[in-house]
Amino acid sequence: MQFLPVFLDLRAGPVLLIGAGELVRAKLRLLLAACARVRWLTLDGVRDIGEFSAEDAQRIEHVDGDIESIDLAGVIAVLCAGAGQAGERMSARARALGLPVNVMDDLVHSTFIFPAIVDRGDVVVAIGTGGASPVVARRVRERIEALLPARIGDLAGFIGRWRRHIHERMPEFALRRRFWERVVDGPIGALVLAGRSAEANAALDNILDPAQFASADGEGLVTLVGAGPGDPDLLTVKALRALQDADVVFYDDLVSPEILDRARRDAARVSVGRRIGKPGIGQDATNALLIEAARAGKRAVRLKGGDPFVFGRGGEEVAALREAGVAYAVIPGITAGIGAAAESEVPLTFRQQATRITFLTAHKARDAEAVDWGALTDTKMTMVVYMGITAALSIREGLLAAGRSPQTPVGVFARATRPDAKAIVGTLDQLPDLVTQVETGPAILIIGDVVAHSAPWRAADLARFAAPMMAAAE
Ligand code: SAH
Repeated sequence: MQFLPVFLDLRAGPVLLIGAGELVRAKLRLLLAACARVRWLTLDGVRDIGEFSAEDAQRIEHVDGDIESIDLAGVIAVLCAGAGQAGERMSARARALGLPVNVMDDLVHSTFIFPAIVDRGDVVVAIGTGGASPVVARRVRERIEALLPARIGDLAGFIGRWRRHIHERMPEFALRRRFWERVVDGPIGALVLAGRSAEANAALDNILDPAQFASADGEGLVTLVGAGPGDPDLLTVKALRALQDADVVFYDDLVSPEILDRARRDAARVSVGRRIGKPGIGQDATNALLIEAARAGKRAVRLKGGDPFVFGRGGEEVAALREAGVAYAVIPGITAGIGAAAESEVPLTFRQQATRITFLTAHKARDAEAVDWGALTDTKMTMVVYMGITAALSIREGLLAAGRSPQTPVGVFARATRPDAKAIVGTLDQLPDLVTQVETGPAILIIGDVVAHSAPWRAADLARFAAPMMAAAE
């Protein structure tokens, strides 16, 4: 760490700003937003401040002079456009007086630099790379922007307003900290983040005994979180937040290690996975673990591949939690079929060609035989089949017997959105052969004319056209 991040109170005295141009104007904007008084030496004499409000403009003091003669008395920091000798000279003068100085785009002559900033009112995040790469800093900022609830600044402001009052009633530091943790993590914090500050004020006002509120066992919560099909960047912002808040994560085998990595570092991780050929701990035992964790006051995340409510037994888990009187929430995820379709460019609906989608599962041959294929013959319907690999033969037989054309395009999408994803396309007739080409791992079948629009289909077409031409050339 070459630069220490600190937060400067700019009301203590004027900041000297030297230069003109877009970069300087951007700094002027930033300084005014931070309540600074700015002494501005433009050097070229052009001072267009039309974009600022009258109130902001009042905080700009125009000064004349040059680098050598400008008065530094009372100035708390110096900011200088970097061109030519000006920056170097100004830096030397400022440093001789012990004043912090920033020469724009010139690390060598700067004693402080500007971070990338996330500004949410009372909550401000500064991101630095030691001046190495503003682009990297901006990317980090984008991630943090996405993570922070929009009203996090309001939450800090809310606590700020109540702080003294609570301090007077609760002198003990550790207890007070627990009190605020319970406010931030509990329903009162949620009200502020939802923009319902009046209700939050009333709820806090209603706490008659803050010490008891602080020391009571927190109520646990189970959040069913959809982890998406594998790519960690496909987690929703809410899913990420739940993972970062978790005390314990109960996860399926389908959840990739990269996603588990996004959970809070010190969260406990418990596999409750179930896989073909490996039973896992069973649904009842999983339900019991979730209930036990919540009753112990923990924030438990039940992390499930794809979406919790699509062939994920989320419905059963929610019913068990409800019956046990445990608080729960559900965060959706991108289901494997949707992830695979986007990755391989299968438009699941298509104007006039495909107007319906059916999600179905056919785990074993006998499940496939139980499917009413006669209800699935509409050629304008796209079928997305989960767990359909081992039953591929029965699926083909069922659909052909129901009258679906053997030429219907189908795709097998294995390990979709993961680094080792593989897509195989062909016709319904070829389905049993196609599934043998994808090796291990979860795979989705998509059946319907829309598969002919997909990227792997177009690539196969190209190869078909190219092959005879190559043969002719030989
Ligand atoms: N709740 C999950 C589905 C669980 S059932 C969801 O919404 O996606 C398990 C089946 O999901 C697997 O047999 C496979 O058909 C499918 N699946 C899950 N992840 C997948 C992936 N990355 N690629 C292809 N299929 C996947």
